[in-house]
Amino acid sequence: MSCGSQSGVVNRLCSDPELDRRRAQARRELVEFGRRAYRAGLIPGFSGNLSIRVAPGEIWVSPSGVNKGFLHESDLIAVDEEGNLLYSHGHHRPTSETPMHIAIYRIRPDVGAVCHTHAPFATAFAVAGLDLSDPILPEVVLGIGEVPLIPYATPTTQEVARVVGEVMKTHQAGLLANHGLITVGRTLAEAYARTETVEELARVVTVARLLGKVNVLPPDEVQKILALVNGNGGV
Ligand SMILES: [Zn+2]
Repeated sequence: MSCGSQSGVVNRLCSDPELDRRRAQARRELVEFGRRAYRAGLIPGFSGNLSIRVAPGEIWVSPSGVNKGFLHESDLIAVDEEGNLLYSHGHHRPTSETPMHIAIYRIRPDVGAVCHTHAPFATAFAVAGLDLSDPILPEVVLGIGEVPLIPYATPTTQEVARVVGEVMKTHQAGLLANHGLITVGRTLAEAYARTETVEELARVVTVARLLGKVNVLPPDEVQKILALVNGNGGV
C-alpha cells in the first residue's frame, strides 16, 4: 500500500489493488448511471447528483455545475465522511449536495450508493406537498416501502442534510419538498432502480387520479406481499 500525488491532481488516496479495482468500478458506474438518468429525463440541465461509497470514509461523487449525462471518469471526485477532498482531477468541485449524501452514509452503514434526481412526476408530488407512501403497487411495497415527503430545506445547506438524514434513517426513498427525489441502495444499480420505480409509481398514480380512482392495497394484502420475498423485490 502506498499514498502519493501527481502534479495538478489532489490525491490523498492510498493505493491498494482491491480498493483501486472498486474505485475504477465506481467511476464507471457513476458515468454510466449519469448517462442513463439524463437520457431518461430524470436530471435535466445541471440537476441531480450520484454517489458511491467504495469504502468506509471514501465516497465518490459527481461534480457540481455540469450535466451528468456527459460525465468522464476524470470528472469524478472523492471525499471523506466529513466532506474533505480526497481525490480530484482539479477541474471540478464536488456536488453542492455532498452534505446531503454524507448525512445518509453516516447514519446508514448498509447504504453503498445515493441517487438524487429531479424525476418530473416524483418532483411534481414533492411540489404538491404529497407523499407516495400508500401501498399501491406490489413491487414498491416489496422493494422500497413508504416514500415519505421530506420537509423543505434550502438545497445545498446543512439543514437539508439534517432533514434528509432524519427521514432516510428508516426509508429507501424520499421526496424532497419543492425539489426532487432521493433514493439509496446497497449499490448504485439498486438505488437507481428505486428511482425508476418511484418515478413510475408517481406517473401511474397521477394517471389513476385523472381516471378518477386509486385503489390502495388493503393491509392484509400488504402483509402477504411482505411475507412473499421478505423485501427482496422481484414482483
Ligand atoms: Zn436537486
